[in-house]
Amino acid sequence: MERSELGSEQRPLRVAVIGSGPSAFYAVEALFKTERLHCRVDVFDRLPTPFGLVRGGVAPDHQKIKSVTRIYEALAADPRFRFFGNVMLGRDVRVGDLDALYDRVIYAVGNEGDRRLDIAGEDADGVHSATAFVGWYNGHPDFAGLSFGLDRAERAIVVGNGNVAIDVTRVLLRAADELAVTDIADEALATLRASTVREVVLLGRRGPAQAAFSPKEIQEIAALDGVEVVVDPVDAALEPVSEQWLETAAPKSARRNVEFLQGCPVEPRDPGARVVRCVFRASPVEIVPDPGTGRVRRVRVQRNELRPAADGTPRPRGLDEWFDIDAQLVFRAVGYRGVPIDGVPFDERAGVIPNADGRVLREPGGNVMPGHYVVGWAKRGPTGLIGTNSPDSKATVAALVADLTGVTAAPLSSDEVEAMPRLLRSRGVRYVDYDDWCRYDAWERAEGARSGRVRAKLTSVDAILAQMDALRGAS
Ligand code: NAP
Repeated sequence: MERSELGSEQRPLRVAVIGSGPSAFYAVEALFKTERLHCRVDVFDRLPTPFGLVRGGVAPDHQKIKSVTRIYEALAADPRFRFFGNVMLGRDVRVGDLDALYDRVIYAVGNEGDRRLDIAGEDADGVHSATAFVGWYNGHPDFAGLSFGLDRAERAIVVGNGNVAIDVTRVLLRAADELAVTDIADEALATLRASTVREVVLLGRRGPAQAAFSPKEIQEIAALDGVEVVVDPVDAALEPVSEQWLETAAPKSARRNVEFLQGCPVEPRDPGARVVRCVFRASPVEIVPDPGTGRVRRVRVQRNELRPAADGTPRPRGLDEWFDIDAQLVFRAVGYRGVPIDGVPFDERAGVIPNADGRVLREPGGNVMPGHYVVGWAKRGPTGLIGTNSPDSKATVAALVADLTGVTAAPLSSDEVEAMPRLLRSRGVRYVDYDDWCRYDAWERAEGARSGRVRAKLTSVDAILAQMDALRGAS
């Protein structure tokens, strides 16, 4: 049979995108916008719901950020788009299946794990990853039913100075009534209402100039009703290494963070306030549990000085100086990390899918795995805001399109579009489509509206599937 150019009208390109978060949708957008490219895109998610970290990561009190899904919804309405929810690569389908049914695969699987501190006591009761806490308050099925003991703690330590640390801190301290109108999980709201946490120590291993949080984010916390941000002037002060870095290489946000932090009081002005205490140049070295209960009692912390690395970036170096902070809860918010998927190459050291400009490599620095591409955090690691994924996905799609030059393919069979649904049915996979999601989405919003909330989420995959079934039957 006569072959045609791959991606032409005669022989459209079939693409599987694994994952349905921002990087996935920006890849879909880039494919749809590529001139003269004829394509069909199937997007897979292991959950029955799309949008990845926008649904399960962005904090519920940041609805404006979550509204980015409108862009994704418009893309999903395109007839070239299909969604296969509740389908997990490595469990329900294998890389070999994708190779058989698609011309190209784009991994948009994010970073589903988290980095550890690797210190003694890290597994004590009361020590949690920010990933788990964030997933839990967002109603992510992986984290439903977790218990954080917020009603047995007065002080929490959040390790890390990124925007995730800020989200955790803000949700811990924000008035529950303000969270009640959002799409926060019911269970999380009830637990936060009963929380006795009055102080969060935000622990940064480097100085105020190197804090990774956005100025807007730390300032938002300080503007909350009944919450104050405090910093010891010794911690807020800059040493010569940071002074020089601020003059030369630091991002603009660094100066704004320093100015803000240096303007914070040393103790709360209102003694009844809930407090965020920023502690800088300090690393946790041991989490000490109570010998009786096994629950966190205090954290041993080492003072750091900053030393310039070869490129001038200030790096922390431990000093011969230690102190303790009493706390009943510890959250590590020191970054995410990719999780390996069966059949997909993985760079253990970097925690990402090894790639060269988005082309998947069989091993770090190795040969290209033809036809396989990667976008988002799975490509570059856990950095950047949602919008960062747009140019990043475009770049990968540009590589994919460039690689199509001169490639031809045999015609597709007439019922080719049925191939994936047929495979899933034959394996008994209970997959859902985009219409299922749309009906369920409308239901969540309507349920939420009944109690003045943005939406009400079900937090188990089975419950979501059952609700989708019921709505399908009723439609
Ligand atoms: P991040 O921005 O990379 O911050 C990680 C923090 O952990 C840094 O302060 C880092 O310090 C610290 N850290 C790493 N290892 C440590 C260790 N062993 N001990 C002590 N501290 C350690 O990562 P993230 O907060 O997970 O956020 C991921 C991305 O999502 C970021 O780009 C973030 O901006 C984005 N995000 C944005 C929002 C928003 O816009 N509202 C919300 C959430 C997340 P060093 O700097 O010293 O390495």
